[in-house]
Amino acid sequence: MENHRSDSDIPKWSALLVEAVNKPGLIMEAYSAFHQYSVGNQLLALVQCQMRGLQPGPINTFPKWKELGRIVKRGERALMLCMPITRKRRDEDADEEQTFTSFIYRARWFVLTQTEGQQLEPITIPEWDAERAIAALSIERVPFDHTDGNVQGFARKRQIAINPLAQLPYKTLFHELAHVILHTSEGDFSDTETTPRSLCEVEAEAVALLCGESLGLEGSNFCRGYIQNWLRRGVEGNAEAIPEKSAQKIFRAADQILRAGRALNAQPEEHPN
Ligand SMILES: [Zn+2]
Repeated sequence: MENHRSDSDIPKWSALLVEAVNKPGLIMEAYSAFHQYSVGNQLLALVQCQMRGLQPGPINTFPKWKELGRIVKRGERALMLCMPITRKRRDEDADEEQTFTSFIYRARWFVLTQTEGQQLEPITIPEWDAERAIAALSIERVPFDHTDGNVQGFARKRQIAINPLAQLPYKTLFHELAHVILHTSEGDFSDTETTPRSLCEVEAEAVALLCGESLGLEGSNFCRGYIQNWLRRGVEGNAEAIPEKSAQKIFRAADQILRAGRALNAQPEEHPN
């Protein structure tokens, strides 16, 4: 049985992002409990757990819990996650089949405390390694050759460099990786300690926040401060301070970086069965 939700029930990605920005610790809690899911779904799951007073922990579909020797307790309501669906569509004009991906929301997941039965094996969070991430993303780390010592790092096409004296090397690393994933097809980026105000920079800083806080690395507070400033200005001038489209790009890039750095890549847990 599938639960189709009306659009009004589904939080926007931009709203989830603002929630994560304004609540320090939220991203790390979401990552600890739900790291095998996409970053957007981690936050979606955590927010639902908080609203219903459920203890965050492992989540699985009904059949997967059964496989693990546990059953969903009577009367428990499933949590909703977003699933990518790949479909084929026939293009009559070109006389060929096209595949496209769309996203649907389904309520099919239950958190550990909604189930009972066999004890679970303890869950360990996989280690994340920067060099593994860079290689898996087909990005090259090149020597830092900038003559301006204020520059913390740069991104050019599929290359990044981090100043060996960078104040917050992990923050800069995530920021530059985000530029490569999202922006360098349109030009190069050099970043100083003070990030200029532009949508590209908000996107890169938000990716750095999601990655840095998920992994508990230093620098997250600087990203948070920058984004909060941006949001505050948004309240006065522009209601859509971070456009929904940017929020989607941010979640996608953070997800790619986090998955790329883990020993076990590609765990498509979002696809039930
Ligand atoms: Zn930048």
